[in-house]
Amino acid sequence: MSVNTAYLRKIPKIDEVLKQPSIEEAGRNCSHSILVESIRETLDGLRQRILGGYESVSLEMADICKEVQALITKKNTMHLRPVINATGIILHTNLGRAKLSDRAVEAIKSVAQDYNTLEYNLEKGARGSRYDHVEDLIAKITGAEDAIAVNNNAAAVMLILSTMAKGKEVIVSRGELVEIGGAFRVPDIMAQSGGILVEVGTTNKTHYSDYVNNITEQTGALLKVHTSNFKIMGFSEEVTLEEMVEIGHAKGLPVIYDLGSGAMVRLENYGIQDEPNVIDTMKTGVDILSFSGDKLLGGPQAGIIIGKREWIEKMKKNPLTRAFRIDKLTLAALEATLRDYLDPEVAIKSIPTLQMMCATKEDLLPKGQKLFDLLNKDPQGYTVELTEDFGQIGGGSVPTQMIPSIVVALKTTNISLDKLEEELRKVSLPIIARISKERMLFDVRTIEEHHFDYINETLRQLCAK
Ligand SMILES: *Cc1c(COP(=O)(O)O)cnc(C)c1O
Repeated sequence: MSVNTAYLRKIPKIDEVLKQPSIEEAGRNCSHSILVESIRETLDGLRQRILGGYESVSLEMADICKEVQALITKKNTMHLRPVINATGIILHTNLGRAKLSDRAVEAIKSVAQDYNTLEYNLEKGARGSRYDHVEDLIAKITGAEDAIAVNNNAAAVMLILSTMAKGKEVIVSRGELVEIGGAFRVPDIMAQSGGILVEVGTTNKTHYSDYVNNITEQTGALLKVHTSNFKIMGFSEEVTLEEMVEIGHAKGLPVIYDLGSGAMVRLENYGIQDEPNVIDTMKTGVDILSFSGDKLLGGPQAGIIIGKREWIEKMKKNPLTRAFRIDKLTLAALEATLRDYLDPEVAIKSIPTLQMMCATKEDLLPKGQKLFDLLNKDPQGYTVELTEDFGQIGGGSVPTQMIPSIVVALKTTNISLDKLEEELRKVSLPIIARISKERMLFDVRTIEEHHFDYINETLRQLCAK
């Protein structure tokens, strides 16, 4: 105890630390409050460690200053910041889903830094609508009569149901009462929107007659939900959208489809099955459909609603639209992304999500070889291998589809893989990689080539320890 007390007294005072040249220097690049806070927290930490009985606590001023500087750096770092995605999951919901195109990023920048036409009509010199910017563009690309974009697809579905089915019954197959990541649950959204859920069929089978037999005076709409993140296989049956349109329209009822991902190009051409695309889906005569902006479309977070004008007009007047409204930066990125879709060839070349999705194993091999060559030159504390593995689209899209990819697999000798994984998250530009079969995998599909040198240097530093 007495030893501790003597030792505790040796902890310097805040003012003493403040006077150190390295701290004065650090203080020039951060606010005074962060500086003092960092010193206080460092000294408090030392006190706790000494009281906890740790013998080897260094009270050298140089060591203390280093700790303070590290804390300042941490406090000065943006909390929301970029990472390198080495997982091979293209639309990683935890890593921000779709990466934007250069054009979309430029558009955000220019609109952010200047006044803009958000709600101003240049021709009339009068007030305009924020919904005008992408409406015609979306209609043109998708073949829909009209369109509106809101904050995200969850909001889109809510707005649709609230506008079209408040106080009325909405018929949904039990096989489609899904939960999508982030607590989007169809029954809950239905309840919130004021629609009355009528479940029909069973988990694995829903028949044509299930819809027909459950239509009553109270029915407001038929809803189909893309099951996105799971797939029922084996003894199963669902009613197609075409059939639902036939049933609905025979009874004068609108048909709504929550498409989820909303691919705008035909992905079957690139080996990706089972993901309906917006343009073909629109041709079924469905009244209203909605999808996300930041899934397969490869744009910013948004919910896009397209379909019959009479319904879209009603949605624009719904007070929820104000609550769900899309902001100017998102609109800028969305317009720029959509413009690329005017020519699908351009879209595939310039939208990162599509580029990554369309890259074959053969396309990725030279890229993998490059990273492998860098790492394989005089390795210290690790070995690498260039091999094949599987990536995923992610974002609740095409759940059963694994996409063959090229990975650099790393084995370590000095540091455990778990520790390395942790250390990779702590570096200035964190690297998110996954461990599989006692190797750490770097899937080159989702890594940018200009990050290879950084990855190489970081791994060498961490593995050599
Ligand atoms: C992803 C998804 C949603 C939610 O979309 P967000 O844009 O994330 O709000 C809703 N429905 C389906 C079918 C989905 O796949």
